[in-house]
Amino acid sequence: MMAKGDKDLEKPIVKNELTTPESRSTDNEDSESNQEQLLDIGEHYLVRRVDDSWRPAEIIQTRYHASESCYEYYVHYVGCDRRLDEWVPRHRIMSDRFDGCEQSSNNSDHLLTDKSGRKITRNQKRKHDEINHVQKTYAEMDPTTAALEKEHEAITKVKYIDRIQFGKYEIDTWYFSPYPEEYGKQSKLFICEYCLKYMRLEKTFRFHLADCPQRQPQGTEIYRKGTIAIFEADGKEHKLYCQNLCLLAKLFLDHKTLYFDIEQFLFYTLCEVDKDGAHLVGYFSKEKDSPEGNNVACILTLPPFQRQGYGKLLIAFSYELSRLEKVVGSPEKPLSDLGKLSYRSYWSYVILEVLSVTRGILSIKDLSLMTGIAPTDIISTLQSMNMVKYWKGQHVVCVTPKMVSEQLASSHFKKPRLTIDPTAIRWTPPIKQGPSAKVKK
Ligand SMILES: [Zn+2]
Repeated sequence: MMAKGDKDLEKPIVKNELTTPESRSTDNEDSESNQEQLLDIGEHYLVRRVDDSWRPAEIIQTRYHASESCYEYYVHYVGCDRRLDEWVPRHRIMSDRFDGCEQSSNNSDHLLTDKSGRKITRNQKRKHDEINHVQKTYAEMDPTTAALEKEHEAITKVKYIDRIQFGKYEIDTWYFSPYPEEYGKQSKLFICEYCLKYMRLEKTFRFHLADCPQRQPQGTEIYRKGTIAIFEADGKEHKLYCQNLCLLAKLFLDHKTLYFDIEQFLFYTLCEVDKDGAHLVGYFSKEKDSPEGNNVACILTLPPFQRQGYGKLLIAFSYELSRLEKVVGSPEKPLSDLGKLSYRSYWSYVILEVLSVTRGILSIKDLSLMTGIAPTDIISTLQSMNMVKYWKGQHVVCVTPKMVSEQLASSHFKKPRLTIDPTAIRWTPPIKQGPSAKVKK
């Protein structure tokens, strides 16, 4: 179900250590700039992707590749998810600028009007402002410009960390993550899979592995069945560990940001246990007291473990916790594209399963109480399967046993590969302080 785009995720491996242009001696600068004309940041070019297709892309950043004595360019493919942003060598970029993007409406280069009423592109405006040292805050800008600048700022976050060493896996990263300066500019980071400490050098990493006393995530083990274990860590008690988990997760999540108020969250880490220890597979975080009734904030399965049922296992576990709390829960929106697929698949299966064993009339509320899934998520799922009608101001479930069995037989809704055994959960709901807006069962 997540097959689409997977091929796109294959990245060329950069084998050499990279340095930034600043680290070169200034003596070389002239001779090098003579050899190579640098492309302008903000301009569009056709760039050859790993699948050999050419796509328009915006140049976001440049860096100097010392061992190859050449520049690399960080590019954002127009209209594509930022997960595909990447560093490319000059030979994958067409020699001439690509102007097709200037007219395109989904491109960020909208036309703005300057003081004299002349139409200018955003790039022209930025160049003008840079040259004239125009520094404005968002509040000083007109709303359109502020929105465009914010969008630009988001897009231009450059992912310097191309890949990480994590346990036995070398993993290509997807997005920018705010690791501290000297770590954030590395092309490869080494991360201990147990304590999540990050390191720049392989030497330090090897030394750490021999030295690190930890063999499982921090916090309390609250679930164990076969080789699968789940731990709960409190952001307040295990602040550094949870911060490191967020930094790691951000490499694979685009829109979620969670670095400052970690103490307000609980972290549930899913592990595969073997003789060496409990190996982190994925996690979800959960607000301790969510006014919106969210039972998941961020959720991630690390790339080497994706498409094996772990994502849905995490989702199922989040609903088991809500059930023990006697509340109905829902994931925080917006969901990532991959998150949306996992949730849609989980919700569909759970709802169909209930419908297949129930006879008589069921309301959305009944379904919600039986599954722990929030009514809005039930309605959207039923709508996607064409099983709900809006009648006399209410959504009414509208299915026949035949429709249910047909849907269950279709390939989308196979029984999950991994399931939670509720009897293996060792957890009692925390005592809530203060008012909670959660829906009581
Ligand atoms: Zn460690």
